[in-house]
Amino acid sequence: MPKARQNVCPDCGTEVKDPYKKWELVAPFPDKKMRITVTIFGMYECSKCGNKFKGVVGKAKLGAEGIEI
Ligand SMILES: [Zn+2]
Repeated sequence: MPKARQNVCPDCGTEVKDPYKKWELVAPFPDKKMRITVTIFGMYECSKCGNKFKGVVGKAKLGAEGIEI
């Protein structure tokens, strides 16, 4: 199943390449394999209509075995 694209303007459908702001959200609890999920969010600004929207830039899992992206 294709992943929903997060960097497309919900108003006009324009793809925004880079978020102007990024931040990380660390999950407060580890998963079953004792890994912590770090989600990177971004704020995008549409170059066409100026709409600002939030999207997930990426996710990383931090665990004893290293980093899984
Ligand atoms: Zn737009």
